[in-house]
Amino acid sequence: MKIRAQIGKVLNLDKCIGCHTCSVTCKNVWTSREGMEYAWFNNVETKPGVGYPKDWENQDRWKGGWVRTGRGDLVPKQGGKWRLLAKIFANPHLPEIDDYYEPFNFDYQRLHNAPASKAQPTAKPYSAITGKPMEKIEWGPNWEEILGGEFAKRKRDYNFENVQKEIYGQFEHTFMMYLPRLCEHCLNPTCVASCPSGAIYKREEDGIVLIDQDKCRGWRMCISGCPYKKIYYNWQSGKSEKCTFCYPRIEAGEPTVCSETCVGRIRYLGVVLYDADRIKEAASVPNEEDLYQAQLDIFLDPHDPEVIRQARADGVPDSWLEAAKRSPVYKMAMDWKVAFPLHPEYRTLPMVWYVPPLSPVQAAADAGKIGSDGLIPDVESLRIPVKYLANMLTGGDERPVTHALRRLLAMRVFKRSQTVEGEPRYDVL
Ligand code: SF4
Ligand code: SF4
Repeated sequence: MKIRAQIGKVLNLDKCIGCHTCSVTCKNVWTSREGMEYAWFNNVETKPGVGYPKDWENQDRWKGGWVRTGRGDLVPKQGGKWRLLAKIFANPHLPEIDDYYEPFNFDYQRLHNAPASKAQPTAKPYSAITGKPMEKIEWGPNWEEILGGEFAKRKRDYNFENVQKEIYGQFEHTFMMYLPRLCEHCLNPTCVASCPSGAIYKREEDGIVLIDQDKCRGWRMCISGCPYKKIYYNWQSGKSEKCTFCYPRIEAGEPTVCSETCVGRIRYLGVVLYDADRIKEAASVPNEEDLYQAQLDIFLDPHDPEVIRQARADGVPDSWLEAAKRSPVYKMAMDWKVAFPLHPEYRTLPMVWYVPPLSPVQAAADAGKIGSDGLIPDVESLRIPVKYLANMLTGGDERPVTHALRRLLAMRVFKRSQTVEGEPRYDVL
């Protein structure tokens, strides 16, 4: 056993309000410069939707993540012939600018300078790259939300039946949720394995994955290799860039910018201890539905004296061991089991985990569809299908997700039953 410490994150999706503050503050700090206009190290998607870049979850198209060979070995999905072809010609599995969006800005001076007319002047969009006016904006980050607005508008104006079929299918069966996304700082990152220049590395001390800008040669194999599409090519410098987990702030004991500025307070940072010798074993279990449990199994209890002794011997500093004992990531993901990894079937062992949204359960409770014990919801009555959440968070296994939703609902009911000085608790939503 070789014990390593990793900084990780849990995002409670039940509390995300989709305000995009995290994305904007991250952009202001890290990517507000030439060559990176289109890049969002942190973005917030409305699911179900195609996401950013479009269709990023379709690994048949992008060849991201690892595949397990018949002999049980792991190889990057875009390895072999694709890797060779990419070196000789060009990487065929790269998203293009239209898969992200053409970055735009608005000519706000027009609001002041437009000639007098009956209509209010508007701030016209222009391309942030070419500077040319854009007549129509076809796509942008989280465009799905714009489609939602389009739906509401057209529902008023046109034939309701046709619009709902056209845009969403059956309206009464629709659902939505927000999914904030950033680099997962994976325990088994394909970006590292994909880089022909050896420019990407995972730091021993905290597990943060970084790109050495001096070594990067712009092959962009990491962009297709990362199944989460969280590496971006800087067209100005000719190098790839990614989320740094705000490592200068982490080193100074500060939270990441997205965590500090999150309006919903949904982001929890914490240290976890894991057995580095079991990474390959966990990432290569045959059945995709077993990957969540396999990843869970390599984490270690920071309260176990034997684990602490071994971790010290392996060089984990005492301050990190103390942080591991207080870690909300350990509590929510490993102890309480209410948080899950995003798409564990990509086999990268991601380290940003998610608490599934509870609000659909509450909607079911309000509609009187709660089970006979008054607490346990009928799974069929949930607005977001458990299968959908399981496909996103556990490789398809519905049982752990159902268990987590029930736990969360039980905790909510308990908290609401409490009073403060005889008054109901208004701080529990
Ligand atoms: Fe690498 Fe981050 Fe992608 Fe994982 S999510 S493969 S660490 S870029
Ligand atoms: Fe969600 Fe927080 Fe980002 Fe707002 S700032 S979109 S609440 S993660």
